[in-house]
Parts: sequence; structure tokens; C-alpha cells
Amino acid sequence: MDFYKKRTPSAEMLALRSLYLRMGLADSDRNQYFNLIKGYQGEVLFDGMTKNLTCDCIILNDLLLSFGGNEFQIDTLMIYSALIYLIDVKNFEGDHLYDKEKLYRLGSDYELKNPLNQIQRCETQLHQMLQSLGWKLPIHPSVIFINPDFTLYQTPIDRPFLYRSQLNRFLQKLNQTPSKLTAKHWQLAEKIASLHQTQSKNTKLPAYTYGQLKKGNFCEKCESFSVTVKDRTMVCGTCEHKEPVGAAIMRAVREFGLLFPGERLTTNIIMEWCGIIPSKKCIQNTLGKHLEKCGVGRGSYYVFK
Ligand SMILES: [Zn+2]
Repeated sequence: MDFYKKRTPSAEMLALRSLYLRMGLADSDRNQYFNLIKGYQGEVLFDGMTKNLTCDCIILNDLLLSFGGNEFQIDTLMIYSALIYLIDVKNFEGDHLYDKEKLYRLGSDYELKNPLNQIQRCETQLHQMLQSLGWKLPIHPSVIFINPDFTLYQTPIDRPFLYRSQLNRFLQKLNQTPSKLTAKHWQLAEKIASLHQTQSKNTKLPAYTYGQLKKGNFCEKCESFSVTVKDRTMVCGTCEHKEPVGAAIMRAVREFGLLFPGERLTTNIIMEWCGIIPSKKCIQNTLGKHLEKCGVGRGSYYVFK
């Protein structure tokens, strides 16, 4: 088994994290942010299970694809020689009810999006995309409810849902699926990975301006802004975590680039954005080392390589 494409936090989740920490979020955005974190944790948990598979398959995680103008997102795609597993991971928690193809929190009218609709749509799009690439592999879709504290009452037995108690057997099935991959399958995986987009067109972030946002570096571990720089190390006053100052600066630079993609990255703006780095030289050296410098003197700025 090979991971062809690894999972990373989405741009939306990272941007919401920055905004949450630097200006706070309204209730609906905060819920969206916490849901994204929870979903991501579930997906990472599932990655931890698939990484132990020994079968001959290629795993592509976390794909954002587009076909015929329609975006679709895939949590996990597993390519075997004669079939494809399409997997969506849900980290829902608590008691829920399945009623007339709708999903409710038990005892309330609160309706969740039915993951069945999502995965069926995804299957159709993927099928068309594969056809356009000259492939006709059958697709096996599954929605995995990974949280052991999740129950879904009254689900018809033929829905492609799997619960935590069924996961070991499902993983065994994945492992025992006969497969002999060829170079062509690897080309397909490469092609699909190359079509992955990093930014969704459907992402809606709350409005923000540079002036509104709290400046400063935060701890990568506990997200506290109570950090200080000592020699070449950033030290957290809350959890005592240490991070090389260059790494902390670059983390802040990537965050700035994500929030303000149109803005020029200059030493001065990063100095202000980081807030706590005492030496301009230190910022200059870090930017020079990791980014590409454009222009000279006072008008110079940096771009991502
Ligand atoms: Zn900390």
C-alpha cells in the first residue's frame, strides 16, 4: 500500500483558525471551524488505520476535484487494479435518526446534511472524470462513521454506511481485495493528484481587514500568543513549547500569504505581522532563505518559490 497523496489541513480550516485566533468569529463561523477540525481529526484517525494495509493499492487522501464545472471533494480514494473505493469519513457524535433519507439529531428537529447525497454526487462526478481519462473502474462508495460514540437509528440496511464496530472487518476486506497494480494505475493516480485544487470556489470566509487582526506569533502547539523570543528560539509562556524562530516566522508568513494573497510580502510587513521578532535582520535572513526575492533596496519584496 502506498500513500500517493497525504492529507493536510484545508486552506479554509487554516484561514478560519487564523481569524478565530486573531479577531474572533461569529457563532456560525465558529461552528463551521469546529466542525472542520472535528472532521479533520476523524479523517486523520482513518488514515492511521489505512496506513497499516499491506495490499497492492494506491491511496489518495483529501482531494478537491472539479469536473464539468462542478467541484467535488474526496476524503479517501483507494485505487486497486480492478476497482476503486471511494470513502467519506464522518466524525459525528451522539444519537441520530435516519428518517426518509434525512438525518436528524435524536429528539430534535436539527437536520444534518445526509452524507449519502454527498457521496452519490461525488461518485457520479468521479465516474465521469474517470471516463474522460479513459478508465472504467467500478467505484465502491462507503461512508464511514468513525466516532465510537455515534449511533444512527432506523437506517435501511442497504445504505453504504459503516460504523466503528464494523471498521476492523472493513479494513480486512480492503486488505484482502485482490489487486495487481501496473504502471498505468500509477499514471492514473498521478493524473488525479495533479487535478487536485488547493482552494475551493465555495469557501466563504467572514470579512476581515489587516487592521482588524491581532498581530503577533502564536504557539504552534497551544495557540497562545504569550510567546517570547530568546536567542534563536520562540518560547511559549503558557505551555513552554519551543520552536526555532525561523520556523515560527515562516509559519506566520504562510498564514499572512493565505489571508492576504494579493499583498506583497516585505520585511517591514512581516516584522509588524510577527510583532515579537526583535531583529529586522533575522526576518530578512529567514525570508531570503525560504522565499524568492524580487526587486532591490527599499522596494524589494518576496514571493513563494
Ligand atoms: Zn504553547
